[in-house]
Amino acid sequence: MTRYIFITGGVVSSLGKGLASAALGALLQARGYRVRLCKLDPYLNVDPGTMSPFQHGEVYVTDDGAETDLDLGHYERFTGVPAKGTDNTTTGRIYTSVLQKERKGDYLGATIQVIPHITNEIKDFIREKENTAEFVLCEIGGTVGDIESLPFLEAIRQFGNEVGHNRALFIHVTLLPYIPAAGELKTKPTQHSVKELMSAGIRPDILLCRADRQIDEEERAKIALFCNIDRKKVIPAVDVGSIYEVPLTYHREGLDQQVMESFGLKDIPNLDLSIWEDIVHNIKAPEGEVTIAIVGKYTNLADSYKSLNEALTHGGIANKVKVSLKFIESQIFESEDPETHLRGVHGILVPGGFGERGAEGKIRAARYAREKKIPYFGICFGMQMAVIEVARNLCGLKNANSTEFGPSKEPVIGLMTEWIRGNSKEKRTEQTDLGGTMRLGSYPALLAKGSKVSQTYGKSEIRERHRHRYEVNINYREALEKAGLIFSGLSPDGSLPEIVEFKGHPWFIGVQFHPELKSKPFEPHPLFVSFIEAAVHQSRLV
Ligand code: GLN
Repeated sequence: MTRYIFITGGVVSSLGKGLASAALGALLQARGYRVRLCKLDPYLNVDPGTMSPFQHGEVYVTDDGAETDLDLGHYERFTGVPAKGTDNTTTGRIYTSVLQKERKGDYLGATIQVIPHITNEIKDFIREKENTAEFVLCEIGGTVGDIESLPFLEAIRQFGNEVGHNRALFIHVTLLPYIPAAGELKTKPTQHSVKELMSAGIRPDILLCRADRQIDEEERAKIALFCNIDRKKVIPAVDVGSIYEVPLTYHREGLDQQVMESFGLKDIPNLDLSIWEDIVHNIKAPEGEVTIAIVGKYTNLADSYKSLNEALTHGGIANKVKVSLKFIESQIFESEDPETHLRGVHGILVPGGFGERGAEGKIRAARYAREKKIPYFGICFGMQMAVIEVARNLCGLKNANSTEFGPSKEPVIGLMTEWIRGNSKEKRTEQTDLGGTMRLGSYPALLAKGSKVSQTYGKSEIRERHRHRYEVNINYREALEKAGLIFSGLSPDGSLPEIVEFKGHPWFIGVQFHPELKSKPFEPHPLFVSFIEAAVHQSRLV
């Protein structure tokens, strides 16, 4: 039997509902249950693929090639369950599907309305998860009170009613702001937010109260009284130093116990959470520290590189070091010497990116890393920029560039016009729509014998997740190899370069895929483990 847990948020956005859902998923897993997590986003885009990371943070890509909300990354990192395209939907996708059905004539004779047509479509999205897990956790994006959220709240209300109270649970995440003048945490916004939720017909079973300091019993009792909720089900969620502490703190505050009680399920005394305790221990007691420079262009929004930041932390956990991140806006290297900003860092990482702005700065950062023999990790765009750098400065291809920035005389990076996916051929042109048409999702690559990456992975075939439209032009392989660039990973048909490394450099690797998407705290990605290991080595040299 599948049970459903709906997670809503109130008072303000960015409350960490995604993290809360992921942590609860991990706790239910620790109790031996199979879990599945999904996210319903009220915005109108069909998916976040066409949005700037400044809007909504990183776009998380699944194995099956969907561009999804970054919360799916939290879900996967905390539970290890690979996210699927069907784990995320948006208002845009729901409406698209309803309107397609309307055009087909599926509703012949009817007037199409938000209730029941849109709400039914939302319920179908949720119901599709039936029997795929013992617990399905559905996070509703946005904040209760937003106009866009209303159909989603109505749909989960109906859904809860249909499956019955013993199979549906509503958790509402709120904020208790601290008001310095009064010297106390305020409960009123929570009361109002619960009232708002009740007006949508949903009575929360559990309240998860975020606060930046301890929540006293008195405040808990007040919330319980005003919101009509059992005091034990008003759970404090106080800020912690590392996100990986969240499952432990929620458990200590009784979240999973209360979920069990609400469903009438037996508690497990002395739940084994040693996997999380070990991770937290390694984070809190590092034996050293390395500094990694991230040279990108979305550097002033931490969420833009969410999975990357986490994967670097995981590399640190594996090497028992703290990884400090130094975000550098790449454009700065177009006017300033990289030396002034990069001197003393132990590793340089150029992450994924789009568009011309800042590209020259990234090329300079790659050159600095290559020449100074500082560990360099180029991810997707970061690999492409490193290849342009080598082409220009070592192969004499002065005009080497990517056609992403316009026509080029020496297109070392070019548009992928066709590639193989499974048994079929994908084709693209300059005119193709931009939404959902990149080379997306999991693809295999074969690793060259004796290469650094084959040692790092310890195997000769890998599968990694991709999200790109451009690719290293294989026609330049010979020239680039003569200059010292090794093509150490290729698509099985040999046409698409997936990994390059630089001969004689302590650690210079560029990958066309996004390894950060698959890294987990309890299973750090081998490339990040190896990169941080190289950074540790570098830290002993400087
Ligand atoms: N803009 C580049 C491309 O489309 C790189 C994409 C990325 O870094 N994810 O190929």
